[in-house]
Amino acid sequence: MLAASGRPRYITRVRSEPGDSHADRSTADSERWALLVVDVQNDFCTGGALAVPGSELVVQRLNASIGEARRLGAVIYASRDWHPAVTNHFADYGGTWPVHCVQQTSGADFHPGLDLPPDAIVVTKGEDQGLPGYSAFDGHTADGIPLAADLRQRGITRIVVGGLATDYCVKHSVLDALSAGLHVTVLEDAIAGVDLHPGDSERALGEMRAHGAHLTRTGDFSPPPRKNPHPPPPSGQNHA
Ligand SMILES: [Zn+2]
Repeated sequence: MLAASGRPRYITRVRSEPGDSHADRSTADSERWALLVVDVQNDFCTGGALAVPGSELVVQRLNASIGEARRLGAVIYASRDWHPAVTNHFADYGGTWPVHCVQQTSGADFHPGLDLPPDAIVVTKGEDQGLPGYSAFDGHTADGIPLAADLRQRGITRIVVGGLATDYCVKHSVLDALSAGLHVTVLEDAIAGVDLHPGDSERALGEMRAHGAHLTRTGDFSPPPRKNPHPPPPSGQNHA
């Protein structure tokens, strides 16, 4: 039962593109984009310390998107909450949340059903005892490069975002991405929210949209435009 409803359209779209996977990759390289998978970790999934309702469906739908992104040569980032045992992010120390995603614990591991490829770039955040680290843009790669800088270095200007949770880490990541000037597409059926206050997720979606995020569904997901998929008609001016 792996998001079967979303698959046929993916396959149709992929097959409609000429060329093999190498051609796909080289084409995508000229217009770099990335899939950002936000915090799909055990503690945010069913059975975890801060389980988000609907997390299992999010995993299934993101797996379809990961497969699509890989076929099209996109870069895949996966952010993770990575807290110290003591942080004022946790209710025990004056914060809001139950203890979750503590460094080096199984709760902080990515969900075992998430099909992250070996070359996915892990973005670690939430290490500061005094900051919540909601946004992936607060995080860094294994090489210590901040996410925004890593995206810039790779020439990536467009990102597609899904994951957990809509009203916190997804929202903050999306708003920061927009502030950084990136074009952002949110997979609205591959996210799920905590809804500490009823309606938080809906409000978060509204906020993301109001700041310029494009919302779409995984079944309708198409990657950012590729170079000359349909060459434009002659404009009348030939060789300048
Ligand atoms: Zn956290």
